[in-house]
Amino acid sequence: MDKKIYIYANDTEMSKTIEKTVRNKLVKSGLRVYEKYDENTELIICIGGDGTLLRLVQEFDFPKTPIVGINTGHLGFFQEVLPEKIDDFIFFYNQDRYTIQSLNGVTVSVKTDSGISKHIALNDITVRGLLTHPVHLNISINNSFIERFSGDGICVATPAGSTAYNYALGGSIVDPRLNLLQVTPIAPMHNTAYRSFTSSILLPANDKLTVIPCSNYDKNLSIVYDGLMTEYENVIELTIQLSRKKINLIRFDDYQFWEKVKSKFL
Ligand code: NAP
Ligand code: MN
Repeated sequence: MDKKIYIYANDTEMSKTIEKTVRNKLVKSGLRVYEKYDENTELIICIGGDGTLLRLVQEFDFPKTPIVGINTGHLGFFQEVLPEKIDDFIFFYNQDRYTIQSLNGVTVSVKTDSGISKHIALNDITVRGLLTHPVHLNISINNSFIERFSGDGICVATPAGSTAYNYALGGSIVDPRLNLLQVTPIAPMHNTAYRSFTSSILLPANDKLTVIPCSNYDKNLSIVYDGLMTEYENVIELTIQLSRKKINLIRFDDYQFWEKVKSKFL
């Protein structure tokens, strides 16, 4: 048994300590830890919180290799293993007693007068103005016009991201076995002057969301993907879709999505 394992950790003291412990235990159980990640890596161990997993996914551009998270962060919704359960994790992993939870990302293509840029996120893509003014955005689904949105912006979340910013905005928690996109308004204006949806809307997996700034004042936008922000000027059009890229998270026998939700939110 010579499986190639790679460890990715954030730089907190706790994560560094846990990393040493995990290395020792893996070696004792006959597994090998490699210093580099490549396409032959069979398991990635991610030590940190959800933010650490998001960084890993960006850095390795949605690796296909199964990932298991050890939670040393705050919330750790993606993270399957508690630091005190490392022995159990190695035991079950060695016996192949686990399931894979596949989670698709969401992509945005940003067209400006100087070209096209693309970003991908596991949780969410947020579109907002650069200033404190509300933005006005024409929103279409599969090229048919739906609404002229006015407000702070919109958050487009995957099922995986539904428990993150989406939830804080009043969006719904989505079981990740459903493949869809959730578009949640951020402080929508709805009155006799402006008419925006005030609740989330859900799109099936293959639908395409297009966002076009209504006027020149709305062309400077901030695009945030999994918490990373890029500012754009002279935006012509944004296209947001569920990505074909996905990550594969390891979950153990007792994993149940709603149990996890209950334990982290209630
Ligand atoms: P952060 O500022 O540490 O994230 C905020 C919190 O969101 C952290 O507690 C993080 O957990 C948690 N989180 C991240 N992904 C989650 C998920 N899929 N389900 C449940 N909770 C999740 O920054 P970050 O850790 O890099 O995370 C980036 C994410 O923050 C963005 O994708 C966005 O969804 C979220 N966000 C939330 C708010 C809000 O709730 N008002 C505002 C902006 C952004 P850990 O403590 O384990 O890292
Ligand atoms: Mn975090």
